[in-house]
Amino acid sequence: MLLLTIESSCDETAAAVVRDGRKVLSSIVASQVKDHAVYGGVVPEIASRKHLETIPVVIDEALHTASVSLENIEGIAVTRGPGLAGALLVGVAVAKAIAFARRLPIVGVNHIEGHIAAILLEREVAFPYVALAVSGGHTHLYRVDGIGRYTILGQTRDDAAGEAFDKVAKLLGLPYPGGVEIDRLAAGGDPRRISFPRPLLHDGSFNFSFSGLKTAVLNHVRKNPPQGDEQYLRDLCASFQAAACDVLVAKTLLAAETEGIGRVVVAGGVACNSSLRAEMAREAAARGIDLAIPSPSLCGDNAAMLAVPGDFYLSRGITDGLSLDATAVWPLDTIKRGEAA
Ligand code: ATP
Ligand code: MG
Ligand code: FE
Repeated sequence: MLLLTIESSCDETAAAVVRDGRKVLSSIVASQVKDHAVYGGVVPEIASRKHLETIPVVIDEALHTASVSLENIEGIAVTRGPGLAGALLVGVAVAKAIAFARRLPIVGVNHIEGHIAAILLEREVAFPYVALAVSGGHTHLYRVDGIGRYTILGQTRDDAAGEAFDKVAKLLGLPYPGGVEIDRLAAGGDPRRISFPRPLLHDGSFNFSFSGLKTAVLNHVRKNPPQGDEQYLRDLCASFQAAACDVLVAKTLLAAETEGIGRVVVAGGVACNSSLRAEMAREAAARGIDLAIPSPSLCGDNAAMLAVPGDFYLSRGITDGLSLDATAVWPLDTIKRGEAA
């Protein structure tokens, strides 16, 4: 099927045209980062308004880049949740309007389901696999037995990893969004200079906790302010990043070993982090685990990733119809659609 997919769950307005859930003909992402930067974080009301302004342009561009018109589109997949309610509503309303006007089947896709399936746009990964969804709102480990068949293995008890990166960046006075900035500065820093805690590292669970680590950085910085010492700032970033990555890597690989699964997928915005990618690759190789991480453009928010589950559902006749509604909270393991297929 030729799908048009639409994503508006947070601060990226995105649309894509994808054939058969695998071949990306276009993937357009309009970031609102500049609109929120002055506030140091995403402002929900501004996000909704920006989506409204941008979404027609982004959809037109996705169709144009793919050299197709709406007449060629055979189905629509849209992010239904989780995310900001007002932001999600824009994408869902536009998707429903197109579906109604063109009499197309439509399916609402879970944003995290899109993140952990994005890798299938680049390579095959046999089921089952263990997926780490690590982003601005999630740090969750799942067992993935197929599209629509997810079991939660563990999750963060407090902050998501991306949230911790962004909060630590903020307290270090770095520009928003902070994750990328920490990654950049850490590249020239010594990860062993400051020994930050590795929360829950040895508790045997697959859960995470990042708020204590963030507080540890805050306490350290209060006692030892960077005061323009560039190298110390780099060492701080590298030391924080190493603590966060150590836990993410250890828990993910432990989950794979405990489940007896030799395949691991890392997905979501924080999967762009160079240290996480390198450490995960090194440790997975040492354990003989097949590791798959999407290219950075498919780790951050995009609409192409929705086509993998979207095509799977639509091509099996699983649709939502025009009663589809956005939902801010939608735990991935409550989806049981794959079993019906
Ligand atoms: P969710 O997917 O949980 O709904 P979201 O969609 O807002 O949340 P993403 O867009 O998937 O999250 O990821 C954004 C997060 O990724 C931000 O917290 C950002 O700081 C972080 N991030 C992006 N690049 C990097 C990087 N190189 N290093 C660390 N963190 C990064
Ligand atoms: Mg975002
Ligand atoms: Fe996301």
